[in-house]
Amino acid sequence: MHARAATPKEVRRLPEQRSLRIAWSDGHLSEYPWEYLRGWCPCAGCQGHGTERRFIHAPPSDLNGIAVVGNYALCLTWSDGHDTGIYSYRHLRDLCACTQCHSIEA
Ligand SMILES: [Zn+2]
Ligand SMILES: [Zn+2]
Repeated sequence: MHARAATPKEVRRLPEQRSLRIAWSDGHLSEYPWEYLRGWCPCAGCQGHGTERRFIHAPPSDLNGIAVVGNYALCLTWSDGHDTGIYSYRHLRDLCACTQCHSIEA
C-alpha cells in the first residue's frame, strides 16, 4: 500500500508526552508533538490564503479533542478554543517526522 493512501487504525492522545500517536493501516507508527501539530494547522485562519503551507507559531495549547471527519480527516480541538483545523490523513502522513519518512522523501 502506498503510504499516502494509508488511514489511521488507531489514534491516541498521549498527555504525558504531549503528543498524538497514530497507528496507520500500513503498519507505520507516527508520533506528533502537540506544538508541532498546532503549528501545522491547515485552516484558513492559520494559513491565510497563500498556496504554500507554513508553520505558524501559536501559543502553546493542549490537544483537548479529536473527532473523525468523514473518512478522510481528523478535526483537532485545542485548549485555546481553536477547532477549525481539519487535518486530512494525507496531510498528517506528510507531517510524520520520523527518520523513515524522511528517507523516503529524500
Ligand atoms: Zn487553524
Ligand atoms: Zn513516519
